[in-house]
Amino acid sequence: MNEGVIAIYPGSFDPVTNGHLDIIERGRKIFGQVVVAVLFNRAKQPLFSIEERLQMLREATARWDNVAVDSFSGLLVDYAIQCQATVILRGIRAVTDYEFEFQMALMNRRLAGEIETVFLVPSEAFSFLSSSLVREVASLGGSISGLVPRLVETRLADKVAVMDPSPRPQAALGDRSGLED
Ligand code: ADP
Repeated sequence: MNEGVIAIYPGSFDPVTNGHLDIIERGRKIFGQVVVAVLFNRAKQPLFSIEERLQMLREATARWDNVAVDSFSGLLVDYAIQCQATVILRGIRAVTDYEFEFQMALMNRRLAGEIETVFLVPSEAFSFLSSSLVREVASLGGSISGLVPRLVETRLADKVAVMDPSPRPQAALGDRSGLED
């Protein structure tokens, strides 16, 4: 383990899935500390508020002593420098993630050359999993058991219960328009 190395794991985590936790668990075995950083992005309409996402992440990672959870806005590299992190951790599920991640890694290197982006691959059981797919399946009443921590399952069920009960015309699985993360 690289005792002194702090890695930032940024993302939307709307909500945290077992795929995210797989990456965090792998990361915490390699680096001294992993800071899971929830991006505050005005442009996105999240299902869960920043506070809700932070709380779910904190509960889901409470068993790991070298994992911290925080939120940030603005440039990721500025936040990383502020945390004294030298690694940006990202997960790669399939080749479809690669192009965007490659672009981001090179842009972040241009902005802060001393910070390295490290990609980890999750267990194949989670390689199809995304927060947007979980939201979609939950909103249509499908089971997401085993794909997210229990506490997220419960909170998603609560959210879905208070959501507008009128049918969403485009919200069928197979329509890719809402699956951007
Ligand atoms: P973002 O909006 O930054 O893509 P996400 O919360 O969707 O935020 O993802 C954060 C990071 O976790 C990204 O690197 C993403 O590729 C990775 N990730 C998301 N889902 C999985 C998964 N099932 N397995 C491994 N990595 C994942």
